[in-house]
Amino acid sequence: MRTLKPHAALLASPGMGHLIPVVELGKRLAAHHGFDVTIFVVAPDSSIGESPVFSSASALNHLKLVLLPPVDISGLTDSTSSVVTQLVMMMREALPSLRTAISAMRARPATLVVDLFGTEALAVAEEFDMLKYVFITSTARFLAATIHLPTIDGKVEHEHRIMKRPLEIPGLEPVRFEDTLDLFLDQTDKSLYAEYTRIGREIPTADGILVNTWQDLEPSTLHALEDDKFLGRVTKAPVYPVGPLVRPVGPNSKSEVMNWLGMQPVESVIYVSFGSGGTLSAEQTTELAWGLELSQQRFVWVVRPPMDDDASGNFFNGSNGQDGTPNYLPGGFYTRTHDRGMVVPMWAPQTEILAHESVGGFVSHCGWNSTLESIVNGVPMVAWPLYAEQGMNAAMLVEKLGTAVRSRMRPAGGPIGREEIADMVRSVINSKGNGMRTRAKELQRGAAGAVLEGGSSHNSLTRVAKECEVKLHSLSARALG
Ligand code: UDP
Repeated sequence: MRTLKPHAALLASPGMGHLIPVVELGKRLAAHHGFDVTIFVVAPDSSIGESPVFSSASALNHLKLVLLPPVDISGLTDSTSSVVTQLVMMMREALPSLRTAISAMRARPATLVVDLFGTEALAVAEEFDMLKYVFITSTARFLAATIHLPTIDGKVEHEHRIMKRPLEIPGLEPVRFEDTLDLFLDQTDKSLYAEYTRIGREIPTADGILVNTWQDLEPSTLHALEDDKFLGRVTKAPVYPVGPLVRPVGPNSKSEVMNWLGMQPVESVIYVSFGSGGTLSAEQTTELAWGLELSQQRFVWVVRPPMDDDASGNFFNGSNGQDGTPNYLPGGFYTRTHDRGMVVPMWAPQTEILAHESVGGFVSHCGWNSTLESIVNGVPMVAWPLYAEQGMNAAMLVEKLGTAVRSRMRPAGGPIGREEIADMVRSVINSKGNGMRTRAKELQRGAAGAVLEGGSSHNSLTRVAKECEVKLHSLSARALG
């Protein structure tokens, strides 16, 4: 049989949390499984094209990034629309340009891979007779909860959403209300639940579902998903754990924060960051500042101005106190902590920081990319979920994996107090005694093994590549008549 080079198109929805793992999947398919890859990127404007994630990937062999024309959803959403609803709208609006772009390709790909918010594009794959996959950039547990959604009736929804009873998922541990998905909490955006339910119906129509997890991380959930009886087997699509797909550490960064880390003892620094969008209230920001100070531990904190419904407009005027401390941090914070802490405004080189030997803990919102970046570096965490599926991720890290601590407080219950924050930070940095660091190192080894040749995730992608090859041959045979 003549060898044909498989070509896959990947569709990334807006936001770094999606683009990063989609690009990493593309790189893996190109570098290890012989694919040509075209990644279509949806974004509200063209600025994403300037990001290092975009430009560094564009320079690679067998990988091409194509920014689809920016989409305008200003007339389709209102002030109550959640971020997810806006993402879904953008993906919907981008469908015609995706169709045009695919049909204009001279060497048309035989496979389309979409992420969670791109499942409507599975229909485009069908139009072009392509194999179609969904790539879940989160956990298998999140996948299970999402494809379970369309099967629950109004009574079950009411019991979970209103009565706060756990959400039962056949074959899996229930989702506690305190850890539940945003779509059960948001009472203002009526379309959120409907959109997720639609996505939950569309995912199982794919030819396969790739998940950014690995066999040993979620064995029981993956086993349940494979079970012929899962949800009355709503999906025949095989589930392929292909992770961890994380952004590699960039070339030696000379930034101030990396220089500072270079002067700190091994595993002594706690890194504090809440992802690309996470924002705390003013009160919570103050408690966190005091908590870090009280803990007496070294820290790097990526600080954003707080958002607080009650704050006046002047709150964000960006003025600083006498020692340069922004007004939204306690007065004199810089002076009191400058010998052991560093504040980085807005954005930090996170993968580099987490890979640095001085970093010994991570206070994180538990976005799945951040969680994976912590795991691949063997760093234990303070789990501080804020939105989306982060509560489920936090529960898994604390209760299943034993690599994180978490506050007794839940998001709706008010701010986490400074003493508890200080305790959690200390317990993570001094975690030799409580086993969290040992567990984190074990997970790190498991993660590395999964993606090596012969590892479970590598084998999963080999199976996907095989399916694509078979499809390619059938298309080519048909073309030859
Ligand atoms: N990130 C970063 N610097 C920051 C904040 C975030 O490099 O200051 C990166 C982080 O390394 C991760 C991504 O942005 O790869 C955030 O994805 P995640 O899934 O953790 O959270 P999201 O932003 O989607 O909530």
